[in-house]
Amino acid sequence: MTIEEFMSEFTKQMEKKNILVLTGAGISTPSGIKDFRGANGIYKDAEDGISILTSGYLEEHPEEFYRFYRKYILTSDDIKPNLAHEVLADLENDGYIRALYTQNIDGLHQAAGSKNVIELHGGTSFSCINCKKEYSYDEVKNMDFVPHCTECGSLIRPNIVFYNESYKPGVLDQADNDFMYAKTLLIIGTGLEIYPIRVLVHHFIETMHLARFNGKDKKLFLINMGPTSIDGFKEDVIKYDGDVMDFARSLKKYRDEKNK
Ligand SMILES: [Zn+2]
Repeated sequence: MTIEEFMSEFTKQMEKKNILVLTGAGISTPSGIKDFRGANGIYKDAEDGISILTSGYLEEHPEEFYRFYRKYILTSDDIKPNLAHEVLADLENDGYIRALYTQNIDGLHQAAGSKNVIELHGGTSFSCINCKKEYSYDEVKNMDFVPHCTECGSLIRPNIVFYNESYKPGVLDQADNDFMYAKTLLIIGTGLEIYPIRVLVHHFIETMHLARFNGKDKKLFLINMGPTSIDGFKEDVIKYDGDVMDFARSLKKYRDEKNK
């Protein structure tokens, strides 16, 4: 499917509003963020990344943990949202998007101006593992290499969901509810490898079948370069297998022409 074909389907459905967006690493790689699993991803370089991103590792080897975290995740200050983040913020502002779920921990959706962002895997803030005092990204960047709480002296951790941890209580229930009532699900830049997220998307596909049975119109759009775990649902998924930026540019053009 070409980007023109994809956009013609998407913009028709978009006008019905009530869109839910789900984003993954592919939306942020054009901003210079390294993804974890991609061809040039962090885990190609640091195979032990998965065992490092656990709470036990942080507490037992804080030095090594922060060597990894500062190298791969607290990277350059000049990382900025790209056109894809920006155009999604515009669409939310225009009343098309009801919520944006992201697997990313880079904070770029908020930086672009998106308001209703649900960070499934956490975000850019930090907190003390003992007294829970919160710290910003900038504060931690300028602290000692292994940062400690200014109140109680305990270790500071990133507020991300570690591999040995579950999602924040209630997040998946809220997501399930949102996915149930959305008219459109727009998935950008993820192969949907992560189990709980794949389950959410499967639920959406089930509600699509039900909606169709009841004469209603629910659609799933997917933009990802390369295979995804829902490629088997050919009948249900409208997929553009290409560059996220093609979509961002086309959507901006559509919106600009509409707002003339
Ligand atoms: Zn503390």
